[in-house]
Amino acid sequence: MRYQLGLIGYPAAHSLSPPMHRAALQALGLDGDYTALAVQPECLSATVRELPARDYRGINVTIPHKQAVIPLLDGLSASARAIGAVNTIVVEHGRLIGHNTDAVGFGCALARVGYEPRGQAALVLGAGGAARAVVYALTQAGAHVTVWNRTRERAEQLARDFGATAATRLLPLARCGQFSLIVNTTPVGMAPDEGGLPLPMQGRGFGAQVVYDLVYRPRETALLREARAVGAMPIGGLEMLVYQGAEAFRLWTGRDAPVEVMRDAAISHGG
Ligand code: NAP
Repeated sequence: MRYQLGLIGYPAAHSLSPPMHRAALQALGLDGDYTALAVQPECLSATVRELPARDYRGINVTIPHKQAVIPLLDGLSASARAIGAVNTIVVEHGRLIGHNTDAVGFGCALARVGYEPRGQAALVLGAGGAARAVVYALTQAGAHVTVWNRTRERAEQLARDFGATAATRLLPLARCGQFSLIVNTTPVGMAPDEGGLPLPMQGRGFGAQVVYDLVYRPRETALLREARAVGAMPIGGLEMLVYQGAEAFRLWTGRDAPVEVMRDAAISHGG
């Protein structure tokens, strides 16, 4: 069995997925490769339809194709349907099945630090594509989720879709103490604009047990530095990236992914 795997996105260069998946294939002694394909939107349909004939077993989907790819597929997992985005396609007997492993990846990184979302109050900053996977994962796991977003209507829509609550304005810091988990799904703090904070910290603690920043460049954002300083457990975006990849690898190969090998590969390629 040969595992021809890859990624479609635009741009597709600088992705950490090729080194992660190649290292995983090699660690398990599986024959195959993982290549990044730069696919412009007008070429998406033709590229996706050709995947079975080109012997692809699986492919990751990234910006800007995560929603546009849906009508091109033969089926969707329940989570991909609920989230409304596909980041992983499995080719099964010539049929293309769309999955979303971002939600699983997000949850695995929480489990790794021993955080159990059931019954907990969580604050999610942002209401874009990544936030949809995060809010889905948290509400499915039984958390009470509050969403804040710069554009309020998007927070309200997201909250409606998943049975969460939309915050009308960014909560005063004191009130953030009610959340045991704070998740940043905005790009605030991402290189090259390092130092930006999605939540005004004002040099005080904010009571959360875990602060999770989806940004993975830099590995430790200003938000995570602040979190660490006040005794909260910081989780960086690299963890979600690694675990979403591990779940995709499991779907494609049926094998448990070598998570440590994948993390090391991502880090050694600048993750
Ligand atoms: P997206 O769909 O474009 O959504 C971006 C969100 O961030 C929107 O809610 C937007 O608010 C908000 N936002 C953008 N700039 C802001 C600013 N200056 N101040 C406040 N809010 C701002 O993007 P996405 O796909 O969700 O990705 C968001 C981030 O998550 C990116 O940094 C991405 O790299 C990261 N991510 C990481 C992983 C991982 O595995 N670690 C996976 C997916 C995404 P408006 O609605 O007001 O525009």
